[in-house]
Amino acid sequence: MAATAQASKCRIAIVGGGIAGLSAAWALEKARRANPETGQEIEYALYEAGPRLGGVIASETIDGCVVEGGPDSFLTEKPAAAQLCRELGIGDQLLPSNDAQRKTYILVRNRLVPLPDGLMFMVPTRLVPTALTPLFSWSTKLRMAREYLFPPAPVGHDESVADMTRRHFGQETVDRLVSPLLSGVYGGDASELSVRAVLPRMVQMEQQHRSLTRAMLAARKKAPHPTQPASRSLFTTLRGGMSQMVDAIAAQLLPGAVHLETPVHAITGVEKLVRGLPSAHAGWTVETAFEKKLCHGVILALPAWSTAGLLRFIDHPLSEALAGVSYSSSITVTLGYDSSDLAKLPPGFGFLVPTVENRAMLACTFVHTKFAGRVPPDKGLLRCFLGGSGNDRLLDESNETLTRMVLQDLDEILDLRAKPTFVRIHRSRHAMAQYGVGHLERIHLVRDRVAALPGLALAGNAYHGIGVPDCIRTGEEAAKAVLEFLAKQPAAACAH
Ligand SMILES: Cc1cc2nc3c(=O)[nH]c(=O)nc-3n(C[C@H](O)[C@H](O)[C@H](O)COP(=O)(O)OP(=O)(O)OC[C@H]3O[C@@H](n4cnc5c(N)ncnc54)[C@H](O)[C@@H]3O)c2cc1C
Repeated sequence: MAATAQASKCRIAIVGGGIAGLSAAWALEKARRANPETGQEIEYALYEAGPRLGGVIASETIDGCVVEGGPDSFLTEKPAAAQLCRELGIGDQLLPSNDAQRKTYILVRNRLVPLPDGLMFMVPTRLVPTALTPLFSWSTKLRMAREYLFPPAPVGHDESVADMTRRHFGQETVDRLVSPLLSGVYGGDASELSVRAVLPRMVQMEQQHRSLTRAMLAARKKAPHPTQPASRSLFTTLRGGMSQMVDAIAAQLLPGAVHLETPVHAITGVEKLVRGLPSAHAGWTVETAFEKKLCHGVILALPAWSTAGLLRFIDHPLSEALAGVSYSSSITVTLGYDSSDLAKLPPGFGFLVPTVENRAMLACTFVHTKFAGRVPPDKGLLRCFLGGSGNDRLLDESNETLTRMVLQDLDEILDLRAKPTFVRIHRSRHAMAQYGVGHLERIHLVRDRVAALPGLALAGNAYHGIGVPDCIRTGEEAAKAVLEFLAKQPAAACAH
């Protein structure tokens, strides 16, 4: 297979067509359009192994209901995703969560107990709701009061989220609150996730105030008055589904730039030869089943395990560090109902299931309540999560078995026996990066080693946040880093 020589443009390959790769592609497209100003001629190609773009983002409409296989929304406080939507001309499709109805339950001995008011992640900030909640035993409530008066000393090193929570509020807070919150959000295990990577604000608060309760109360004093309605919702989504974002980017990219069902098998550094001897870096060859292309820049927007494979022969320690980022898998089972069948559902966004309850289900979202207008008024939609850290075996179960497990849990938890009008199952294998203890050191090492690879950048959920806005930001930053590298090269550098 011969490397295809092309005209004198800076060629950039993006590997991975999830939201990180797509946002990198959009950043490159904007730079290409601005070319008369920057003088940088750019050509890019995006390679995606699967048959469609979006990675874990997968929306479809069934019986008028928007069904999400992956993310259903993003945190409003992280601006990158909404900003991207506005840039793409779909700002009018942004839809806030229905926060007036925001209430989340935790399953405790098969009873749904609402999270008490004033709880800020694991930190209680209001006395009466904390004292009255059946979520915690009296000994845990006393422990919470003691944390305010006699907080533990910071440990001075990274530790798991479970360890930090236990030091401040005891094991029951880990079991009934922090573990279910993290397995619901991260598909993760609180006893493995790094507190410095996952909850950096808590670490900072502990350093400043020792007591997390005192720190939260101080932060709340500075926030707008609680009687004023919040100016923005906690979550934002798109009316027609998260895939609207994917489709809007795809519609802006250069025709022919996207290569679906084209996994990249190998990447190799190319060196310029002077009198037959390698002298300087001249780019990268990107190899697929169809071509071997010489590129001046490469963006790897992949899960870390996939990036590790491609960099194995380029930088072994870097590849090892990437391979050390573990991933969990998840399964969503979405069930459509006639709204009359869900009349007995408690009000709210849904519930979380602690591991100690020994159930297949990790969480369930009442989709028709969380967002207005994504489910017809005569319908209801429940989205159940299975899988999570250490539960990969569930991925191999048949759809029938998974449906049976979910229906049994819904019957026992919600007393729901009605037959769903449809069931849709999505499996996301090794898709959620898990930031284990020591993650930040690992990522510093990755950053330093990548800096030594000219014109190569990484993006995706393995590094600085797994949410959609974080992934968008990494894609934009990777594009910027590659463009800045190319801008510093002599004009002749892209002439081969
Ligand atoms: C079920 C679920 C629910 C979630 N819910 C939320 C939520 O509500 N809010 C939120 O903010 N975040 C949520 N997340 C997290 C967030 O969606 C992801 O972290 C983010 O979308 C990942 O984007 P990405 O581009 O980094 O990776 P991916 O979406 O995994 O994309 C990577 C792409 O690379 C491709 N690929 C792999 N190897 C190769 C190769 N060698 N060559 C070419 N292509 C390759 C893959 O096929 C894939 O398409 C959720 C995730 C899951 C799985």
